[in-house]
Amino acid sequence: MDIKKIVEYQKVDSKLFQLERQLNQSVNKQKCAQLSAIARDSQAKSAKLEEQASQIAKEIQDLFKIADQNKLKIKEILAQDVEKMSVEQIDAALALREKLMQNLAILDKKATKLAELANSVLSEFNKTKVNYKNAGEKYKEYKEAYDKEVSEISPKVQELQKELRELAKVVDAKLLEEYKKRRHDRIFPVFVSLNNKCCGGCHMEVPASSLSKLEKEGILVCENCRRVIYKD
Ligand SMILES: [Zn+2]
Repeated sequence: MDIKKIVEYQKVDSKLFQLERQLNQSVNKQKCAQLSAIARDSQAKSAKLEEQASQIAKEIQDLFKIADQNKLKIKEILAQDVEKMSVEQIDAALALREKLMQNLAILDKKATKLAELANSVLSEFNKTKVNYKNAGEKYKEYKEAYDKEVSEISPKVQELQKELRELAKVVDAKLLEEYKKRRHDRIFPVFVSLNNKCCGGCHMEVPASSLSKLEKEGILVCENCRRVIYKD
């Protein structure tokens, strides 16, 4: 089995891997992810606050309805002709009026509290909206910077990819397939040499039985790190 070609391929690919890692570790990329999360959270919070606000509005409306009913009753009491009423009836009417007035005062207090709550929800909503807007603006800045990073290394990436395509033509297809599988899982380097009876990737000692297999077949998959071990 010709290991040399795939090792050569890996050597070129390692440059590509470095560039990918550089992009992955980019501060701009991380900032973009953070700001996206903030924007998402702000949006979710806004939706929640909107729901809360409409609930409060409904409660206030209900209170007003009850208050209107009370006011109507008071008006009815006041409209009664006292001339035709007994003293007991007048007393009862006055007591009812007193009770309704008290209820109105309680409703008024409740409405005031709800209005205060509505105000705080609104101010929270506005704050959230500002956060969302700021996150969006900052995201744009970092995204532009990140895109610039990408475009700066892009020619180098394309050049390496082209070189790899050429090299791939002469690499054993099965080895390349094994290579690409691990590369996809971000295991790198994929092919490592045997070092002092140890895996050149994770440094785990290779058991004697596997060593003879390696001797016979030329390669061996490390049981610990899944890398492909070869003999120099
Ligand atoms: Zn290993």
